[in-house]
Amino acid sequence: MPLTSDATVVPAPAQVLVPVRGTQARFPIHRIYCVGRNYAAHTIEMGGDPNREAPFFFQKNPDNVIAGDVDFPYPPRSSNVHHEIELVVCLGQGGRKIPVEDALDHVFGYAVGLDMTRRDLQDECKKASRPWEIAKAFEHSAPMSEIVPAEAIGHPQRGAIWLKVNGEMRQQGDLDQMIWKVPEMIAYLSGLFDLAAGDLIMSGTPSGVGAIERGDLMEGYIEGLGGLAVRVV
Ligand code: MN
Repeated sequence: MPLTSDATVVPAPAQVLVPVRGTQARFPIHRIYCVGRNYAAHTIEMGGDPNREAPFFFQKNPDNVIAGDVDFPYPPRSSNVHHEIELVVCLGQGGRKIPVEDALDHVFGYAVGLDMTRRDLQDECKKASRPWEIAKAFEHSAPMSEIVPAEAIGHPQRGAIWLKVNGEMRQQGDLDQMIWKVPEMIAYLSGLFDLAAGDLIMSGTPSGVGAIERGDLMEGYIEGLGGLAVRVV
């Protein structure tokens, strides 16, 4: 039997695709970059210094995404899983060494996302100076809404961002409280990595992070984008 160039010796992983408002076409995810401590009040609650030091990033896996109002299965090996509501920046164009002033031209759109975190495991990683993957890059750890094209809404730089659990307000902030702005994050990352269409940047969370339990309903909202409702199961 002749081999074709796309033959694989094991099944090829499925491309993760996220719905886009206003079109049947979907957004293919390449990489997921996440910034740590990007809102001053959250930096303080996590024991950090809110002064403007260089940003730091970690990553999740593309297949950690679950899109839409779906269930979040409580992950194993943790008894302290936290919600972090975040603006997700979805790149439509990649590049290296992207200047800050051109950075927004590389954005396709935005979404409402949750950076779900096994806080107990993260605390252990921090203490031992170990990497964070077991705390951040686990199955279903990146719930997100449909993507709203920048073409439709522009580039949100201010506006409410909040998260309620079972109807009770837990996290509340404004996009204008970000220490590192979206164009700065794109420029900075593009000096470290070859950014590509399909990359996501989770832009950090406002204060008020806390634990969720099975049965809880997490409702996130970002002004101009809309909402996300995720049930913990
Ligand atoms: Mn986060």
